[in-house]
Amino acid sequence: MATIDYDYKIDVIKDKIIQLDAKNIILQFPEGLKVDAIKVSNEIQEVLPNVNVLIDADPCFGACDLADNKVNKHIDLVVHFAHTPLPIKTDCPVLFIEAHSSADIVAPINDALSGLEDVETIGLVTTTQHIHKLDDMISLIEERGYTVKLDNGKGTSTGQVLGCNFTSIKDLDVDVILYVGSGDFHALGVKLFTKKPVILADPFKGESRDIEEFYDRIIRVRFARITKAKSAKSYGIIISSKKGQLRFDLALELKKLIEEHGFEAQILNMDYIAPDRLLPFDLDAFVMTACPRIAIDDSAMYKKPVLTPDELEIVLGIRDWDDYQMDEIIIHDEQT
Ligand code: SF4
Repeated sequence: MATIDYDYKIDVIKDKIIQLDAKNIILQFPEGLKVDAIKVSNEIQEVLPNVNVLIDADPCFGACDLADNKVNKHIDLVVHFAHTPLPIKTDCPVLFIEAHSSADIVAPINDALSGLEDVETIGLVTTTQHIHKLDDMISLIEERGYTVKLDNGKGTSTGQVLGCNFTSIKDLDVDVILYVGSGDFHALGVKLFTKKPVILADPFKGESRDIEEFYDRIIRVRFARITKAKSAKSYGIIISSKKGQLRFDLALELKKLIEEHGFEAQILNMDYIAPDRLLPFDLDAFVMTACPRIAIDDSAMYKKPVLTPDELEIVLGIRDWDDYQMDEIIIHDEQT
């Protein structure tokens, strides 16, 4: 397996702290990088011993979830690792360190290309971790005689899938899509939005895989949840107080929609969403307006159906199963 090695850009962080004359800063890492948090904190304190460096130990899954409003007003700067900024208004400055990965992209892409048949055009998409190698990826694919197509989506850079924003792949007219990254969620989203063959080239494993089997399994699970929810008489509509996940107006619309169909609906506000937090509520099913990954990735952990907004529409008979799509949160304008 390839080694995961990130550049945490200590010099950039140091310059920002000095520029802002920041006294108290908080570091925010996604779960996979938290193991490096102490090391990064120590490195900052070595070069700036008078700065208080805190580590946010709460879960963090995306740039939708910033620590700017934590620790009351004591924080002068948030350093947020591994995600690209979203247009979210913050209570204090936030420095985004994209934490590019040095993992090799050649072996997994070659592995992916070696399995292709009757393909002329390839759509290419990757995550923030590997986006700095986009030109290398394009060259590698073109050298093998394929035409590469990319798009820049809305709120994403060329060839980037960001969090739950899949706009960069929706209009690609190609034979197959190559997703360079790890984790099935993004590959699944690409598949659901394009309905094209999707190959996942995983730089951390150094190999590739077709996501068709995973896609089939998830679709069967979603169909089962939707079927179970059809007997629900009461719904909890979950909103998140995380700024980048809050879809308040959508929650109000869904409540109205559910009530118009003769069922009960209650909006539930949470910050961190977990299965045990739903246990006190005597409701038959839940609709997730917060992070779209929860309904998909964590589905097995919830006893009652947790639906995406589109899935609720299928349950209520106002959307066809054939129009099934991945849920997305796309932030266009700066939001509070
Ligand atoms: S809301 Fe979107 S960007 Fe935020 S953690 Fe979930 S999938 Fe990622």
